[in-house]
Amino acid sequence: MRRHPACFLACSILLVVWTHSTSSGQSQVSDRAKTLHQAALVFDAHVHVVNRQFYHGGDMGQRVDDGQFDLVRAKEGGLDAMFFSLFVTEQYYPARFETKQVLRLIDAAYDQLAKNKDRIELALTASDVERISNAGKIAAFMDLEGGFDLDGDLGVLRDLYRLGLRSFQLPAHNWANNFADSCCAAAKWHGLNDRGRAVVREANRLGMVINVSHGSDETIAQAIDVSSDPILATHHGLRSFNNIPRNMPDDLLKKLAAKGGVIGFQIGNEFHNVKVFNWRTEHAGKPFWDTTDIGRKEAGMTIEELDALAAPQFPMVGVNAPDELKFTPYDWLGVVDRAVELVGEDHVMLGSDFDGGPTLPRGMRDIRDLPMLTDAMLKRGWSEQRIRKFLGGNLLRVVRQVTERK
Ligand SMILES: [Zn+2]
Repeated sequence: MRRHPACFLACSILLVVWTHSTSSGQSQVSDRAKTLHQAALVFDAHVHVVNRQFYHGGDMGQRVDDGQFDLVRAKEGGLDAMFFSLFVTEQYYPARFETKQVLRLIDAAYDQLAKNKDRIELALTASDVERISNAGKIAAFMDLEGGFDLDGDLGVLRDLYRLGLRSFQLPAHNWANNFADSCCAAAKWHGLNDRGRAVVREANRLGMVINVSHGSDETIAQAIDVSSDPILATHHGLRSFNNIPRNMPDDLLKKLAAKGGVIGFQIGNEFHNVKVFNWRTEHAGKPFWDTTDIGRKEAGMTIEELDALAAPQFPMVGVNAPDELKFTPYDWLGVVDRAVELVGEDHVMLGSDFDGGPTLPRGMRDIRDLPMLTDAMLKRGWSEQRIRKFLGGNLLRVVRQVTERK
């Protein structure tokens, strides 16, 4: 790069200042925001946790310099609790290995939890979340991303509950299964069929959270109608910002909120920011939810061959989109503000999707920089009460309704 000689010193100083402020997110966070963030319950509705170690080994308790999550960085970011999300990817569906893969991931989860039992603990109820986080540990509420069984077998669901699973998605991630449609594949049932409705009722009876992220509009609407409990969309966006099927239209958000449900906001630009979504789609040649290339080849593979196929995508991080296209944390919170205008502050939460592929707001490195959100909420004029609800209070309320129903 050629520099004008007169500019050299000034430019160097500017560069130093710029490097400092962008490489050290915490330096942009006010003392008031730090204090509030530390005091609040930070309960994230969607973090990808164990897939990385399942495929590549390692220990979630050790700091790593890639990806967006490990327990050390999570603690630095003030995380107190999370939906501890296990992800059965589409590769396992054609050969019908999905249930076996859930069992393998739960086994890996127990292994990681045991290795780090001084810092993290499985939570089965809202009271567990409070007890564990009050003791200074991170509470892990186990959630499943993807299909638990493509047929929706209720006995399998009950067994997974017995193993500690407390939340799951209805469709098989971006694929429809034999009981529920997905956002991102052709409709098979126009929402839920009889089995899908039975799955929702059984989840209600057991006290499991129904997570409608990745559901089609019809799936989400029908799940809200059938369920006796409030429903969560753990990591989502608004269609009024980016008109993609993975996001929620305003009328559906109102329906979700009217039954006490909560929408979690995915932290990635691709969900909410059309410029980054378009950039990513152009570079990949397809939208981020498109898995139509998975199918015939995978149907004939062994599970070990499928592991080898799935492994390289973990940990999932965002794309290298130009910084000037990205939302700042302040811009990103504009999406949440729009939802608050529509349905009020009791129905919004954080559902970051760290290590699930989000392209983070400008200046954020990984889960360490969560306090930047609290700083931006204060700049937006949010009350302390609203900030606490968004960071974890609303999620804890629904988890309590589902897991501690008398
Ligand atoms: Zn997801």
